[in-house]
Amino acid sequence: MSTYAANADAPRQMRAAVVGEDGSISSASVPIPVCGPHEVLLRVDACGLCGSDLHARRGGRWARGLIPGHEIAGRIESLGESVGKGGDGQALTSGLAVVVEPLESCSRCRACQAGRDSICPDLRIAGVHRPGGFAEFVVVPAKRVFAVDPSIDPAIATLVEPLAVALHALDRAEFRSGERVLVLGGGTIGLLCAFAARTSGASEVVIRARYAHQRQLALDLGMARPHDAALSISQDGLESRFDLVIETVGGSNETLIEACQAANPGARVVVLGIFDRDPPFDPSLALQKEIGLSWGNCYQTGTMGDPDFARAARGLAEHRDSLGPLVTHRATLEGVDEAFDLAGNKAKGVGKLVVLVSDQREERLR
Ligand SMILES: [Zn+2]
Ligand SMILES: [Zn+2]
Repeated sequence: MSTYAANADAPRQMRAAVVGEDGSISSASVPIPVCGPHEVLLRVDACGLCGSDLHARRGGRWARGLIPGHEIAGRIESLGESVGKGGDGQALTSGLAVVVEPLESCSRCRACQAGRDSICPDLRIAGVHRPGGFAEFVVVPAKRVFAVDPSIDPAIATLVEPLAVALHALDRAEFRSGERVLVLGGGTIGLLCAFAARTSGASEVVIRARYAHQRQLALDLGMARPHDAALSISQDGLESRFDLVIETVGGSNETLIEACQAANPGARVVVLGIFDRDPPFDPSLALQKEIGLSWGNCYQTGTMGDPDFARAARGLAEHRDSLGPLVTHRATLEGVDEAFDLAGNKAKGVGKLVVLVSDQREERLR
């Protein structure tokens, strides 16, 4: 029995951006999803377009009929009959402004029991394995919903997801305040990692970005003198200087080698980039310096009652004005396919592109 069925006035169809036969995405009318007892139905306000989405579309990895989008901000439309609290322990009510931790895991395996749900073998992600946020409505598990200050622009609120990735990366690398941190890559994840390191007490944060607009965004975010990634690590004067290096580039780039060059002896490197097969690596250098190598995937709920997503939601609320410049482009649901082309073209100067779904501003101000 769905809560939706009880609401006879609700529209039964919604607009959504759906993956077609040829891998392109177009707007379609599809049934509004129905929430189960432990789920909530959200009215989506905004959904960010992520680098991993660009990868998936380019690689033709999405199933036909999928509704992509995992950086979701919206409001609770209706609740399943057994829903009580969200992921942060706050009582969920209709109309509450929320963001979505887009994971669904088995909750029984050792990883899940340890609060490390992002490495659950049965991990499913909204917008990848199940319907996501490029739609007027989306159904998600209630425990994956986190309240946000309703006065935050929903386009900015979608940044909670990549900020949670950044906070998780610092944890994975066992970051300690006072350390010197290098971030490789000036995309949203790289910029947010740099921002998170700086606001978490790093003594120095250097970001290396390939594109001029990324370096400008780093400045807009208050970072000191971003470096041009076209220089080699030694030309750039960065050899053996950092306690922690965060790699966010991936592909077939030489950033694993660069990370080890820039790392101090005994330093740690945490990898967030999505690499192609066999990226260049120098194991001898990593051995000489005894570099600790770790990896960060998504975010975790943890077992201490303060999930990465909850920390990110608080961080975003605190730094909403500083982080605002990251959202450089806004698109509509009907324009999602063109938005992908725009975001995928590095010459176009896109920082974060967010798809605005509902006319939330009017309704919020009502
Ligand atoms: Zn993402
Ligand atoms: Zn599991």
